[in-house]
Amino acid sequence: TPDAHSQPTGRTSPLKRFGLAKESINKTFGLIKTELLEAHAILVEAKGGESGEGGGRTTVLLEKTAGIEEILARDHMKVAFFGRTSNGKSTVVNALLHDKVLPAGIGHTTNCFLSVIGVDEDKGYVIVPGSGEHSDIKSLQQLANSLHKERLSTNSLLRVCWPKEKCALLQEDVEFVDSPGIDMNPDVDDWINSHCLDADVFVLVSNAESTLMNAEKNFFHRVSERLSRPNIFILNNRWDVCVEEEPSMVEEVKQQHLENDISFLSNQLSVIDPDTARERVYFVSAKEVVTIRNRQRENQSDLGRGLHDGYKGRLLEFERFELKFKECLSNSAIKTKFEQHHSRGLEIVLELEELLNFESEQATQKNSLIQSELQEICSKQQNLNDKGHLVYQRSIQKTQSMAAELESRVQAAMEG
Ligand code: GDP
Repeated sequence: TPDAHSQPTGRTSPLKRFGLAKESINKTFGLIKTELLEAHAILVEAKGGESGEGGGRTTVLLEKTAGIEEILARDHMKVAFFGRTSNGKSTVVNALLHDKVLPAGIGHTTNCFLSVIGVDEDKGYVIVPGSGEHSDIKSLQQLANSLHKERLSTNSLLRVCWPKEKCALLQEDVEFVDSPGIDMNPDVDDWINSHCLDADVFVLVSNAESTLMNAEKNFFHRVSERLSRPNIFILNNRWDVCVEEEPSMVEEVKQQHLENDISFLSNQLSVIDPDTARERVYFVSAKEVVTIRNRQRENQSDLGRGLHDGYKGRLLEFERFELKFKECLSNSAIKTKFEQHHSRGLEIVLELEELLNFESEQATQKNSLIQSELQEICSKQQNLNDKGHLVYQRSIQKTQSMAAELESRVQAAMEG
């Protein structure tokens, strides 16, 4: 649609690689299925219509293939946002979605997990937990509050469905997960088990006005203990406020944050080397990006109206983050989601090859057995033929000598 494709995430998006890889692996599994069906038909026919051991094994392989195809259809790229309450997590998600999808601001504390996925419908909705009914997107905050009260846990998840046609990122199969504030003393392991194990990228939204909190650091220590080398980006958000409040100190503050964040990712968590860590830290204003993108959508002319100086630089920094984040998301998702399907597909093909080799060897052995039996029958037949011929010859001779004797007797009688 023109709306979604006018966003810079259109046709050239690095996320396309995920879509292409998904298409290619889907095709491969389609081919595997065709080969399996053909092999199954041949094996059953060879057994005179019965399944037999070979047919049974191809049925199991076909079931495995169908299972993988089902998981493939659900596979998508997942990015999860963490940080203290009010650091701007929901605002960052809205900026990436180019729309105000999630409630953000005072009184809009996210107190349960929210997952945003793309749907084909033209209007957004929330799935009511339990009943599965669709509710208006405006009820999101109320539903989140009651879900939190009802379960008294921050671990619950609300699904937000948003029209794919409004957002290029959602068209590319990305799921966004917004979390409650990490300062809410969560059961960290519970959070990680329920929402993080299949996440491809984590975004820590920090408040540039302060340093990283221990709760934020501890959370990521636990994540990196559970997942091998998680992909973590750090967004120093509210950078517009810092620039506005401390213009003379801004470079110094930025350098301090940069060093601390790089050291956190490379030395403390040891998930990445310092040079790559530099590409994982950004200084942004999600609020400005939301404002600018809203104005762009409405075709307003003065995009920077009322924004602080330097907003263009901060927008560029956000766009740099988006590009790196998409590359990382796509690469990670291709590896985590498709690598295991690839090896399972290979296992299926090798098992089919082994089965067909075995069956063909059996058939060759049976064939040579039949050939030698045939030969035996033929030589017996020949033997019989020879014997028959001898008996026949003898009986002819006998008949001939009997005829001669008869003839001589008749002759003798006539002469007598
Ligand atoms: P969350 O609790 O982490 O999801 O935070 P929200 O996204 O709800 O944001 C909390 C408040 O901070 C809202 O009023 C936002 O408008 C505001 N906010 C978010 N990002 C920025 C930013 O970059 N700059 C400024 N000035 N305000 C921001």
